[in-house]
Amino acid sequence: MSNRADVPTTRRKARGKQWRTRRFEAHKGVCVICKHAIDVPKDRWIAEHIIPLGLGGKDEDENIGPAHETCAAAKTKLDIAAITKAKNVKAKYIGAKQARARPISSPGFPKPPKTPKPVTKASLPFKAFYESRSPNYEQSAEGSE
Ligand SMILES: [Zn+2]
Repeated sequence: MSNRADVPTTRRKARGKQWRTRRFEAHKGVCVICKHAIDVPKDRWIAEHIIPLGLGGKDEDENIGPAHETCAAAKTKLDIAAITKAKNVKAKYIGAKQARARPISSPGFPKPPKTPKPVTKASLPFKAFYESRSPNYEQSAEGSE
């Protein structure tokens, strides 16, 4: 099984204020996304999953740190695109994604009128070719009938 197709998703745990405070302090109040200090109480922040759950990130403390709300919003947008892509790849890999039942049918483009093939040496009658070269050809061909 390839790594790309193996993207489990994780359920998130419910957590409280005390836990949020511990995560903030564990990262010394530095945003896990932009790596700048979160200026509390001015800056609003959230506990962000560094590797998103949708991409198989663990719902454990080591995968969670504080992030500015604005940074998290931008990251979430990118994460959603990556998660959607990963899920589609996984669905395709395990065959969950169904093929379209029938291809779209259309009348198609009108066919051009048939043009007669140009006359080439190869398409000339065999007999006529020999008649022009050998006066005895006609005779011998008739004699064999
Ligand atoms: Zn930030």
